[in-house]
Amino acid sequence: METQKKEAVQKTSQEEPQCENCGMPKSEWKGNLGKGYQVEGETYCCRGCAEDGECDCQEREEQ
Ligand SMILES: [Zn+2]
Ligand SMILES: [Zn+2]
Repeated sequence: METQKKEAVQKTSQEEPQCENCGMPKSEWKGNLGKGYQVEGETYCCRGCAEDGECDCQEREEQ
């Protein structure tokens, strides 16, 4: 398990939406061409999160 602590103290004025299920920032969403899926007012990164609770976006290799 990696516990890398990054000191990212930069404040972003933009509020980036996050997936309601997995917390992925919108910039990394894969579902619906990056727009995500909306279900009952909540926005999810992909269909997996929206319907199954399992994210489909995280198939990339971890560093
Ligand atoms: Zn998600
Ligand atoms: Zn996802």
